[in-house]
Amino acid sequence: MSQSSYSQSLENFRLVAFCPLCNAQYQPNQASILEQKDDANLIYVECDQCGASIIALVVMGLMGISSIGLVTDLTERDIRRFQYAPAISSDDILDLHRELQHKNAVVALIEGE
Ligand SMILES: [Zn+2]
Repeated sequence: MSQSSYSQSLENFRLVAFCPLCNAQYQPNQASILEQKDDANLIYVECDQCGASIIALVVMGLMGISSIGLVTDLTERDIRRFQYAPAISSDDILDLHRELQHKNAVVALIEGE
């Protein structure tokens, strides 16, 4: 990412310049860019005042700049970890259910229930 596109992204970040939970004003250095593609930037920011985190998608379109923010309890590290992880399928849920049933059966056996 070039320095100019980076500072331009942070300039666009002014659109989401206030914490939606406590209204504190964000400083541009609180924001980090998770991903940048064409005219879209995915930005993460954590509020210094209340600790709330938001992920914001800032898009530069023909009609100007628009942004969508989402309050999250994920840390920046969590987001980077799960960003490209495969989605959880219904088979994964069934596997987990079976695994837990099996573990419960084993625990019950050990505890003599
Ligand atoms: Zn806040």
